[in-house]
Amino acid sequence: MAKVSFESWRQVSEFHNPLKNNDLDRPNIEVRLDPLTGHQSILAEALAGKISILFPDTDYEYVSRRFEDTRAQCFMCDGKWRQSSPRYPERLLPGGRIERGEVVLFPNLFPVAAYHAVVIVGEKHGRMLDDFPASLLVDAFSVSLEFIRRCYESDPATPFFSINFNFMPPAGASIVHPHVQIVGSPAPSTHPRLLLDRSLSYYRENGSCYWLDLVEAEKESGRRWVGEIGPTRWFTAYSPVGVNEVNAVWPDASNFLEWTDDDVRALAEGVSRTFRAYHELKFSTFNLTCFSGPLGKPAPEFRCLLRLINRQNMNPHYRTDDYFVQKMLKDELIIYTPENLASLLRGKF
Ligand SMILES: [Zn+2]
Repeated sequence: MAKVSFESWRQVSEFHNPLKNNDLDRPNIEVRLDPLTGHQSILAEALAGKISILFPDTDYEYVSRRFEDTRAQCFMCDGKWRQSSPRYPERLLPGGRIERGEVVLFPNLFPVAAYHAVVIVGEKHGRMLDDFPASLLVDAFSVSLEFIRRCYESDPATPFFSINFNFMPPAGASIVHPHVQIVGSPAPSTHPRLLLDRSLSYYRENGSCYWLDLVEAEKESGRRWVGEIGPTRWFTAYSPVGVNEVNAVWPDASNFLEWTDDDVRALAEGVSRTFRAYHELKFSTFNLTCFSGPLGKPAPEFRCLLRLINRQNMNPHYRTDDYFVQKMLKDELIIYTPENLASLLRGKF
């Protein structure tokens, strides 16, 4: 096993601080580098006093109002999707849609890739993060996998798929009714491409899979380790790409075609537990992506990976958490340390 190194460096800012009698203040700034991609995230001592401004709590009254105001025109409610949602051609999906329990999959009317499906996650219009039972998520992720398998059977030249979930408007969701999105394209998106390229370089240099080495390193140190569910391994990200990032790795699967029912159940269970922990911390939004290697191709350098992050909480006048630091400089701020977050999550796993 090659050693995964968790590197960081420090810098200090210096100024006379009016909040501290105009004394000379020298706040510490730690910069962490992702061991694979070099992505930087910033743990700034001074930001600890600014959390209520940077990341204000959820306004639950506003959330209820938003649910009430949007329910009547929601096409996902009351079976309205039967009339108003598109259907796939019969040769791809007999019947045009996939229904299972309370979930239903159909094409996105505004696709951003050759294959872009939407899955309604339950009949209920408005949910908080403590209201996503694992059984509902099992159905949502199972139909996602079924769709991916059918796409591959009919079109093996399109092997790059991801399973995605935006929840609530601050996370980019245009409809508050929970819905998963599956995207499939002949070439990988920017971030998956970086992950695949760097994983291959690491494999060639070290003769081992980065993701297996990372799991070993995180388990051994324990500082960011959250736990194991079936075939999956859960921990928080050392240098996160978003607020409160939680990761899962599938040590036995490098692409979605290798998944069994156990893999789907583990994803659903881990996500449901993480949502409950987020809810207890009064967080109310997220982005989730499950990455896969190319379908049907052996990729010993890669393993399936989940990234789950929070976005700004539901609040009528929220400001985006993606400003110049993230969008232009491509760094991320660490608001709650990954080590603290892991200790809170361990109680749920
Ligand atoms: Zn709805």
